[in-house]
Amino acid sequence: MNVAIIGSGLTGSLAAISLANADCRVDLYERLSDDELINRDRTYAITHSSRKILDKLSIWDTLINDLVPFQYLNVIDYELNQKIEFNKKDLRKTDQRYSNVGWIADHKKTMLVLLRKISSIDNINKIPTSVIRNPNNYDLIVVADGSNSTTKKKLKVPSFQFDYDQICITAKVLLRGVRTDEAFEIFNSDGPFAVLPLGGDLYQIICSQSRKKGKYNMSLSKALFLDYLATKLPYGIEVDTIVDQANSYPIKFLLNYSLFKGKYIFLGESAHAFHPVGGQGLNLCWRDVESLRRIVSTPFIRTNSFLLPILYSISRIIDIMSISFLTDCLVRYSRINFSILNTPKKLIFFVLRKSVFARKFFLNIMTNGL
Ligand SMILES: Cc1cc2nc3c(=O)[nH]c(=O)nc-3n(C[C@H](O)[C@H](O)[C@H](O)COP(=O)(O)OP(=O)(O)OC[C@H]3O[C@@H](n4cnc5c(N)ncnc54)[C@H](O)[C@@H]3O)c2cc1C
Repeated sequence: MNVAIIGSGLTGSLAAISLANADCRVDLYERLSDDELINRDRTYAITHSSRKILDKLSIWDTLINDLVPFQYLNVIDYELNQKIEFNKKDLRKTDQRYSNVGWIADHKKTMLVLLRKISSIDNINKIPTSVIRNPNNYDLIVVADGSNSTTKKKLKVPSFQFDYDQICITAKVLLRGVRTDEAFEIFNSDGPFAVLPLGGDLYQIICSQSRKKGKYNMSLSKALFLDYLATKLPYGIEVDTIVDQANSYPIKFLLNYSLFKGKYIFLGESAHAFHPVGGQGLNLCWRDVESLRRIVSTPFIRTNSFLLPILYSISRIIDIMSISFLTDCLVRYSRINFSILNTPKKLIFFVLRKSVFARKFFLNIMTNGL
């Protein structure tokens, strides 16, 4: 099967490896150089669903050396002073033997591992351009060109999207009072705030807030920004310094009405982009890749390739819809601050603290999808 992939970000690159592994001949189109692809300052939370996908492709054993594991995930409602701790006992039995709830990945190292793997595979041909000269040469065209997909615009594939009126500020900070093996998701009325371990005292903060407040905070000196962070961190955690320059990016909700058009199928952020709360973004993108690999590997579908786009869409719909709904609920939970909702919010924490079943249910959706 001849496949073209547009975009060699983390989705397109993994799709190239997966499809080559399923005996496809892959042309991978990317307009950026490898250095530009690598040099992005992002940090991802990796869940067990991604671990399993990378394991099948023999990438996990290489990548694990660059990941920072965390054994505890603390979910905190800052204003209501409520806390739940998820740990390995809340995972599925098969995931428990890994001891970790998740891992933190640095973009540079992850991208490098994927690009090295690609260069070791004969049936992937990297093409440094954004133009597919002859689409008729391909049985399937995988669109993985990100949330501002130009291919989607050209094909006039509509999507449902709205702006959260929020931006996400990311920075690396040194913290005291945190164990090196714990991560935090803190809900406060500005928006969700994640603290992810990077090894030693170093942590990545991913904090969302209104555009107005975010713009103001980005204009602060490092010292004043540290003061702001100190007011948002739970009691007992102290912030020492910012290691790098804080960055920010706007947050939107985007979901395609259709995951395909003809032989073009949409994967990763070209199909869906959500709020970073819960660290679902990249894991969901990679589950798209895994679904496609499974479908392409089925002999009946290879001989009836016209079925592929529709089967891919059916296979992805529940996972994408449930994660989009859940992440949106988490953003709204955090931002809606009416006192009338305090009791239901406390009840959610009470149920999750008391019920192992509820904790397992919630954590498994977040870590394995549906
Ligand atoms: C600014 C920003 C910051 C982010 N930070 C975080 C974070 O901190 N944590 C997190 O979990 N997630 C983050 N995300 C989301 C995360 O990066 C994505 O979920 C993940 O990278 C997978 O995206 P993707 O590969 O589908 O798309 P992208 O990473 O956007 O990759 C798309 C690729 O397609 C290429 N391309 C585009 N158009 C064409 C074309 N016409 N022809 C050829 N190539 C083309 C682009 O150059 C790019 O390399 C962030 C996203 C953005 C935009």
